[in-house]
Amino acid sequence: MKAIAVHIKGLVQGVGFRPFVYRVALHHQITGWVENGNDGVRIFAEGSEEQLKAFLQDLREKAPPASEILEIFIELRSSKQSFDFKIIKSSDYSDEITDISPDIAVCPECLEDMKTQPHRAGYPFINCTNCGPRFTIIRGLPYDRPKTTMDVFEMCPLCREEYAEVSDRRFHAQPIACNHCGPGYELISGDDKYNDTGRILEMTAELIRNGKIVAVKGMGGFHLACDATNEQAVQRLRSKKYREGKPFAVMFGSIDECRYFAEINKAEEELLTSWRRPIVILKNKQNGKRLAPSVSNGFNTTGMLLSYMPLHYLLFEKLATPAIVLTSGNLSDEPVIINNQEALTRLAAVADAFLIYNRDIYNRSDDSVMMVSGEKPRMIRRSRGFAPRPVNLSMDVDGIIATGAELVNCFCVGKGNKALLSQHIGDLKNLETLDFFEESLQRFTEMFRIRPRMLVCDLHPDYLSTRYAMDLAAKSSDLPLLQVQHHHAHIASCMAEHGLDEQVIGISMDGVGYGLDGNIWGLEILLCDLADFERRSHLEYALQPGSDMANHEPWRMGYSFLHQYVCHDPETLELPFLKDIGRGKIEVIKAALENRINTPLTSSAGRLFDAVAAITGVCTHSVFHAEAPMRLENILDLSEPGEYEFVFGQTISPALVFQRITEDILNKVPAEKISARFHRSVVTLIVQSAVNQRDVTGIGKVVLSGGSFQNRFLLSETENRLQQEGFQVYSHHWIPSNDGGVALGQLVIAAKKRATGCI
Ligand code: ZN
Ligand code: ZN
Ligand code: FE
Repeated sequence: MKAIAVHIKGLVQGVGFRPFVYRVALHHQITGWVENGNDGVRIFAEGSEEQLKAFLQDLREKAPPASEILEIFIELRSSKQSFDFKIIKSSDYSDEITDISPDIAVCPECLEDMKTQPHRAGYPFINCTNCGPRFTIIRGLPYDRPKTTMDVFEMCPLCREEYAEVSDRRFHAQPIACNHCGPGYELISGDDKYNDTGRILEMTAELIRNGKIVAVKGMGGFHLACDATNEQAVQRLRSKKYREGKPFAVMFGSIDECRYFAEINKAEEELLTSWRRPIVILKNKQNGKRLAPSVSNGFNTTGMLLSYMPLHYLLFEKLATPAIVLTSGNLSDEPVIINNQEALTRLAAVADAFLIYNRDIYNRSDDSVMMVSGEKPRMIRRSRGFAPRPVNLSMDVDGIIATGAELVNCFCVGKGNKALLSQHIGDLKNLETLDFFEESLQRFTEMFRIRPRMLVCDLHPDYLSTRYAMDLAAKSSDLPLLQVQHHHAHIASCMAEHGLDEQVIGISMDGVGYGLDGNIWGLEILLCDLADFERRSHLEYALQPGSDMANHEPWRMGYSFLHQYVCHDPETLELPFLKDIGRGKIEVIKAALENRINTPLTSSAGRLFDAVAAITGVCTHSVFHAEAPMRLENILDLSEPGEYEFVFGQTISPALVFQRITEDILNKVPAEKISARFHRSVVTLIVQSAVNQRDVTGIGKVVLSGGSFQNRFLLSETENRLQQEGFQVYSHHWIPSNDGGVALGQLVIAAKKRATGCI
């Protein structure tokens, strides 16, 4: 007989890991014990050498789907002559954390149990150690029922038995519940309330069939749902929610249904069906079935996701439609609502009925959004199913708090070698979102027991995330504050994702970032490492007339670029896009440009795309963030091989690009072809910039980041062409390339500077 102590670190709590260890131990006739601690799972195991070997092998190879083993430490021990295998109650070992599991979609076994187990027949909160809510209901660590919002539900004898029975799949399943003892749904329609689940499902399906809007409480917040094939219903939802143009996400009951509407490749199928269940941006199927036109609003892609709560499955059994719109239950840009009472009052004008339940959501978590490009998953919004899973780094980031950027904000806190990126917070532009930011940051520092030692934020003086960090630094004497340039942070976040810690060529294709010279940066060619950067080149500055106004009115950038590069009187060119812009407005912009009034300098890639989208008439006014570049990508004609030419000097000039585009428009070249030529020329710009930097420095690693890389064509073509040129190319996969990833970059930059004594 031999005895070993095994210490497993990683995502091993709340994912059915201890019962799994128990079952494996029984299988191999191992004796000893397993227990949860703050720093992972600890096992004491006794058996013959062969038994222990087989035991360890199974631990590694057969771990539950949502678990992730990072490290296994094994030490020889003297035998304790244990005669059975036990699961011991949680105890606090140390101050180190164990990860909190993200929420997990209901598993196939539970769906089966929902049909066969008498006390869980049609029970919409069914879960087991392999599935169910986690992060959204957890208040603290270690993960145990009293520290979740399930604490108010007392287990019935049947559930208690299963909870205590080691061979049961619900052994120590903290949110265990059944029809007798767990939470339940309630449907509120007008003055009427219904509690019977069967009745509720029938009625909800009926409401949706009749074109009504139902507010449905989801895993991490409320959704607004309606029939995605009913144009009137979708339009009504749009107008009520003040969401004029942004495409809606759509839920399907099964992937087979989904296939009638969308092209789904293997990588996309894997994402759609994974236990994380993100929204995946998919290509609408040509000649396939059609959703209501207002769902995608002119885009040839749709964000689709599959059922992930038991309720979704039950509802789809009753629904007449194969697809429902499932959009965040909030008003315009505020955080998604999680509280029943708040939903009933604030969504009263939007929803015709409310499908709520009586378990609290503690941590708000939106649906995550992903896409596939170059056959690889790409994160767009990292939230449910991912947060708060840490990013593991090979550097000490302990106690660093990074407040992120402004748009699609996530913050990031450091614990040991782990970067804990928050769930999607939103655009830090209103009080509600700022409250959510502050509350979540507070909760993260408490839950993960962070002792703040350093603050890091963006350079932009007006970001609420910057001001928050500055206020906090001012209040405490021992919290140094570091401000990091936005695009350096973008590149560093991608480096962190790939474990890079060396000098690289960093290429940022981004919308807005505050530059060292006070101008608006965006398309930046950097030479950088984690500690520092050098701005080697950038898009030549253009004037942004009306400053932020230009974000909503891309025609302003179109006019500005034409004014700078083509002709001082662009209105005389007879380009169709100016026809709908009033004469008076054009005069104002022209005067502003000539007198340099409220015309900040910008090298933004986003504004460059805006300009081309406007001039080609694709999008002169945009109603949601990045609409113009998205519409320009949307119409791109892949069969067009031509391209324009950027000119390289001290900076990169788009003069010829705009001159040729103007000629093309006047020659009636379709916008689809112009878009393709423009996209291809931007790819060449990036490749040429990388080659130029390699020629001077000998560096062959290129790191790509910034929001414009959410453009699939741009990303995949750039990667391909850079690889053809012999570069090692690094782009984002699981961290957003948009501003949602900036906090991670800030964190590692601060850590590097701290480690090298720069601060
Ligand atoms: Zn399950
Ligand atoms: Zn029960
Ligand atoms: Fe950015």
